Amino acid sequence: MADCVIHLNSGLWLTNRHVVRSFSWILSILSKMMRRALARRPLFPPAAALLKTRPQRTFAFAAQVSPLQHVRIPQGTGQEGSSSRGAFQNVALAAVGAAAAAVGLATGLEDCTHAEKKSDQDHVFMNWSATHECHPRSFYVPESVEEVERLLQEYHGKRQKLRCMGAGVSPNGLGFSGKAVEKDENEAMMTLALLDKIVKVEKDKLQVTVETGMIVGELLDKLRTYGMTMQNVASIRDQQVGGICQAGCHGSGAGIPPIDDQIVEMEIVTPAKGKMTLSATQNPEIFAMAKCGLGALGVVTKVTLQCVPMHRLAEKTTVMTLDEIRPNHNRWLVEYQHLRYMWIPYTDSVVVVQCRRLEDDERIDEKRFPPVKHSDAIRLEAPRKLYLELTKGKPAPDYLDWSFTKLRDKLLELNPLDKEHVIRVNEAEKQFWLLSEGYRVAYSDDIIGFDCGGQQLVEEVSFPCTGTLDLDFMEKLLKRIDDEDIPAHSPIEQRWTARSASAMSPASAANPHQIFSWVGVILYLPTAEEKARRAITDRFMEFYAMYRDFMEPYGATEHWAKIEWSPDAADRQKMRDRLKRRFPVEKFKEARDEVDPHHILSNHIVDEMCA
Ligand SMILES: Cc1cc2nc3c(=O)[nH]c(=O)nc-3n(C[C@H](O)[C@H](O)[C@H](O)COP(=O)(O)OP(=O)(O)OC[C@H]3O[C@@H](n4cnc5c(N)ncnc54)[C@H](O)[C@@H]3O)c2cc1C
Repeated sequence: MADCVIHLNSGLWLTNRHVVRSFSWILSILSKMMRRALARRPLFPPAAALLKTRPQRTFAFAAQVSPLQHVRIPQGTGQEGSSSRGAFQNVALAAVGAAAAAVGLATGLEDCTHAEKKSDQDHVFMNWSATHECHPRSFYVPESVEEVERLLQEYHGKRQKLRCMGAGVSPNGLGFSGKAVEKDENEAMMTLALLDKIVKVEKDKLQVTVETGMIVGELLDKLRTYGMTMQNVASIRDQQVGGICQAGCHGSGAGIPPIDDQIVEMEIVTPAKGKMTLSATQNPEIFAMAKCGLGALGVVTKVTLQCVPMHRLAEKTTVMTLDEIRPNHNRWLVEYQHLRYMWIPYTDSVVVVQCRRLEDDERIDEKRFPPVKHSDAIRLEAPRKLYLELTKGKPAPDYLDWSFTKLRDKLLELNPLDKEHVIRVNEAEKQFWLLSEGYRVAYSDDIIGFDCGGQQLVEEVSFPCTGTLDLDFMEKLLKRIDDEDIPAHSPIEQRWTARSASAMSPASAANPHQIFSWVGVILYLPTAEEKARRAITDRFMEFYAMYRDFMEPYGATEHWAKIEWSPDAADRQKMRDRLKRRFPVEKFKEARDEVDPHHILSNHIVDEMCA
């Protein structure tokens, strides 16, 4: 079967065997379409136009992959069923599938072979890397907090699971619901994609109150109009605000806490206690638990976030060795608002990315901030040369159009688990970065995200730093990777945050001055071929088992959106014991029993921790 991978800039990935959508993309289209329809404007006219000429085969594809076609909208009675509003929504939702199909057509998707639709009820959610999927029995898109309350009452009464997802991006499928008992389908899910408005902006306090279904990228864009921005963001902006808070997400900057700690106040709807407002003064104990609550302590409907004034950053990229970093590292942590290292395994090189905040009136010119000197053609010379060699002079016709990350995927795809091959690819990456040194100056929200490459398996852990423990951690980790012949792909990303006051944050600490380092290892999934993906996944699980063993003496703990429970019962118990030493799990369980006594909001990831 011919391999076909299409990466659209919108965040949509299509492969001949997998369809991976950024849910934020689909859900934000849905949301906009609803509003347009309400304003009596045509529904997604370009899609409708393309639909007329679209072959049936492509439509079946869209129908199969659209998770939104089987939505059941809650009614005033709490019963599922259709209503004029529900029917209207289903029309809009079906049009989203059509829009996706039209995008496929516009990009030549019909040339690919599509998976067959299994049945009318087969609606599948997949995460960003297509590593986890979910087949919920019911999927709800409430339009108001009252609907959220009614839904939770209904499921609380029935004692059935109802998980609230965000954009569904999490590498471990954290937002998805657990498996229904002994069935190959999942329990019910909801998303707050239609609760996505800014409620209030308090410019004097630099605070924004926002409904949690809003996509982070959209919030950042809107904040610009108020001269404000978020303190930090993750490398991608596709998450919902609820998703980045509940999983304890972070960017980089030793003086900036993870995003859950930027919450000043939040509104949650709980199954047992209904709607609650949480802050440092209102229900402070539940607030400390629920800021990073893993979706298990209530459906978060609104958060007030502490922002900062919109500002520019000067980002400097250089390639260094560990010996060059060591004498400067602790100073840089203080000096730079954002600092990130990208370690290239099996080379002596670390890509150092330093961001300094510029004063509003600070002069910017190319003398002070010399940009990257070389053209893309020069920067890509080494990886392109390697690609030409390995494809024996028969490259893909469009290879000169590929970005560096796509080229890296294509190189790795040739032999992703062979250590010697991976070393050659990593060496080519080093050459790319050596020619990419230089400055970028732009607004912070344009700078701090970055291209993390294609589909991937990742494991990121966080640990408290003292002295140069964070650098020792890396030095020893790279050695262990080599000793165990792990074909480690590049980069291993290292970042820092301030502590979080949220009890369940991987960066939680009583000491307000404690700094945490976050280190993520990666194996890409550069192929759609099932057998190859399985082999990479198996190797990654061995890599992760080694990493678990390695990190334990450092008091490290996994990112909640990346933790994967081992299939082995003894390993799971070990993980559970470690989590219980790190987090107040008993208090978390007490809080959960109070607000959700039947644990309807939890999925298997949370239940496993609480077992
Ligand atoms: C390519 C890539 C890069 C990434 N980079 C980073 C990074 O730099 N830093 C980082 O920290 N993370 C990063 N992540 C992880 C990502 O930020 C998290 O997985 C995030 O939680 C995803 O948000 P989401 O909206 O998709 O939430 P989901 O994955 O859908 O859900 C995450 C959690 O939030 C809960 N939740 C969502 N909305 C609500 C709500 N309204 N009420 C209650 N609970 C809710 C869910 O139940 C679940 O527990 C990255 C992921 C990918 C794929």
